[in-house]
Amino acid sequence: MRQFVLPEDWDGSSPFRVVGKRARYLSGVLRLQAGDRFPGVDASGRAWDLAVIEIGSGGILLAAKEAERDGSRLPDVRTGSATAAPSADPGIGRLPRIVLAQALAKGPAMDRIVRQATEAGVALILPLLAERSVPDPDKGRLERWRRISREALQQSGSAIPTAVGGIRHLAELAEALGPAPGARRGIFCHEAPLASDSFHRYLGHRIDELVICVGPEGGFSEREAAFFESIGFGPVSLGPNILRAETAAVFALAAAEIVILERESWTASE
Ligand code: SAH
Repeated sequence: MRQFVLPEDWDGSSPFRVVGKRARYLSGVLRLQAGDRFPGVDASGRAWDLAVIEIGSGGILLAAKEAERDGSRLPDVRTGSATAAPSADPGIGRLPRIVLAQALAKGPAMDRIVRQATEAGVALILPLLAERSVPDPDKGRLERWRRISREALQQSGSAIPTAVGGIRHLAELAEALGPAPGARRGIFCHEAPLASDSFHRYLGHRIDELVICVGPEGGFSEREAAFFESIGFGPVSLGPNILRAETAAVFALAAAEIVILERESWTASE
């Protein structure tokens, strides 16, 4: 476990008691003992150093201290390896807030997209009902995605606490996104050779938020492509192959993040 995801309702008090599934995970799965220390992250993404005070039938009593801001973290409880502080390499930029607006894909594919987007440091996953989304009667899917995201946050050690928004119709995208937190860039992935721009051109300047839209298995309709353009989102190609929705989501996130993180290196060479 790279980090323990603290309960959403934890009020920052210390010591505090963890009960239920979380307590069983710490004592049963990780076999933690009194005195063990490990990294934690709260719902706002703040890093904490946690220590086990006692393990009893009433749960686990933990002490919490805010982690040093130098980026160093306590070691992973299983491997003992500490997550490295963010690289000081001048070529490594900073990621903006990233939103993945993902048209509902079939059950397991959507679960995988949620896990992978959390590992990639996405701040918000917005599940969208698109014209060609496959209807899914599963009423528990939103809670399952939120659990999957929490587990991925715990395993990956990502510093960004990924939120999974409520399911919205694609036409409500602008409303679901809310006011832009500064400079927002929106792109939508489209397999047809629309008059698209490149990732480098879309991401050549510093932005505060990047919204990446990926379609369902059946793809975005022409009407939806026109809607994206009407709200200022540009089409982007992921190459000549037709990718599955879950492949496209990871592919687009990886491409965008690398272009942004390495901006200093490729703009310097221009
Ligand atoms: N309708 C397509 C498949 C859509 S794939 C067909 O069967 O021909 C699902 C989603 O992945 C698409 O809506 C798009 O958002 C994304 N995608 C897949 N391949 C892509 C590519 N080469 N470039 C950009 N986006 C792609």
